[in-house]
Amino acid sequence: MFVFSADSHVREPNDLFAKALPAGLRARAIQSKRENGFIMTTSGDRVIHRLRVAENRDFGGNKRIGLSEIPGRLLDMEKDGIDAEVVFPTLALWTYVLEDPELELATAQIYNDWNASFFAAHLDRFVRCGVLPVRRFEHTLAELARLGRRGYTAAMLPCATPPGIPAYNDPAWDPVFARMGELGIAAVLHSGTGLEDVIVERGPGAAVINYTRQMTDAENALLALVAGGVLDRNPRAQVAVIESGASWLAALAERMDEVYAAHAIFVQPKLSLRPSEILRRQVKCSFQSDRACILARAVTGHEAILWASDYPHNEGTFPRSREVIRGLFEGVEISERERADILGGNARRLFRFDAPAARAQA
Ligand code: MN
Repeated sequence: MFVFSADSHVREPNDLFAKALPAGLRARAIQSKRENGFIMTTSGDRVIHRLRVAENRDFGGNKRIGLSEIPGRLLDMEKDGIDAEVVFPTLALWTYVLEDPELELATAQIYNDWNASFFAAHLDRFVRCGVLPVRRFEHTLAELARLGRRGYTAAMLPCATPPGIPAYNDPAWDPVFARMGELGIAAVLHSGTGLEDVIVERGPGAAVINYTRQMTDAENALLALVAGGVLDRNPRAQVAVIESGASWLAALAERMDEVYAAHAIFVQPKLSLRPSEILRRQVKCSFQSDRACILARAVTGHEAILWASDYPHNEGTFPRSREVIRGLFEGVEISERERADILGGNARRLFRFDAPAARAQA
């Protein structure tokens, strides 16, 4: 069976941004270094993220051979039973903490140029995902045009809108989602992106709270995009929320429908469809081990869920993906067609995977 992972990462060269940024921006290039048992990701003097490296567990999979090279990655995919994947960045995941619009734009452009050539010869195995700047929507549209010319079928937007950026229920987003729909570029909202600091809670239970609440960021983004009408007004736009689990989508759909009808006198704007129908038409969620999303597919549609491995991260399913997949479907009554769609078909269609030539323009 064809297996597509809807969540994987590549590690850009650490000096990619420091080398390629124009002189005036170079000092604030995103980069990371190991220091006293931590991976410190910085932009100039600012520490963006500080992550403790656990003993013999190297977060970010620095020891995984496919982290930063394609031959090793193909070997790991073989070992893990993955046929194809969409690939997100490592350093450039932090693009949305950059407040300077020029630095944000240049960082996105540098990543997108590097990514385009890195995967160019391997589009039969990989879907490239661009990074879109959001501090100025004219920058977003200009970068979208470049990605469109190159045949990209996926591009990142922040999962949480950073302070100072219109929230996802603001009609200011319409031109961006309209253009993405026209170009056939799916908007990808990866967990953790757009937060000033992913460590929101530091007290008891912090790790569980912080990682679990990334689900809430995804839910909030979709709630805003649907209730505010952005997706309804731009029906060709497709949104994929990544690494936030997926079974909550059923609850969100049911609750939004209930509220939309029960509180109809207060509802503005009116939508042309029920919220659940808009979600079903335009939204997908990736998951690794969240079996409940398979059980809830009668509510969301099985087309809404995309299996993913999160390679090369330690919290991902590598190298046990086959075993994890078997466990997901154990005892579940499901057709072969639905199973194939969840494991690959849905992502294949969303990212237009079967047209690698079209995805390689320019
Ligand atoms: Mn991920």
